[in-house]
Amino acid sequence: MFSQKLKNQLHEAIREIEGYPRAGILFRDITPLINHPTLFFRLIETLRVRYQHHSIDFVVGIEARGFILGASLAYALGAGFAPVRKKGKLPFKTISASYQMEYGMDSVEMHTDALREIKDAHVLLIDDLIATGGTALASLELLDRLQAKCLEACFLINLTELGGLEKVAEKVNTFSILEYPC
Ligand code: AMP
Repeated sequence: MFSQKLKNQLHEAIREIEGYPRAGILFRDITPLINHPTLFFRLIETLRVRYQHHSIDFVVGIEARGFILGASLAYALGAGFAPVRKKGKLPFKTISASYQMEYGMDSVEMHTDALREIKDAHVLLIDDLIATGGTALASLELLDRLQAKCLEACFLINLTELGGLEKVAEKVNTFSILEYPC
């Protein structure tokens, strides 16, 4: 369980950078959280306790900060880890799904054997932050095509005003630790 005290500590450790990567964006930088030895541990440990009885086969992390959270959690759960990457980054055979960006389209990819070709694999999808939900929805489309069962989509930060979490919640269970603005 994420106590209010732990949530406050996580919130305090996340740095805000105005105008990155471009004007008008308030970037939520989690590097001061993950370089904090006990706070990073408590974040992953609390997630491990939440998911320990879900029989998770794979934690699927979204590029790039979802890799850090996802791989750590997969290790803690004794599960496999599989990456969702931006187009053109994966070396083997891929499947891809497109989503709408502010300007134009982008796409994400997974290896065709990312889930070891296990049908109905129990998957937890994770990323550091959900904004419009486009990346997470495209990732869920990939998981559908790999015939996975996504048990939950988990985000450290939910930018509530953009409504992405609600869109994802129409498809799968969702969990977010911090709601911004708070
Ligand atoms: P979206 O597809 O709009 O939900 O965007 C989510 C993805 O973009 C995640 O992988 C986030 O890491 C990244 N992202 C979007 N907005 C921000 C932000 N304000 N600060 C940090 N990362 C962000």
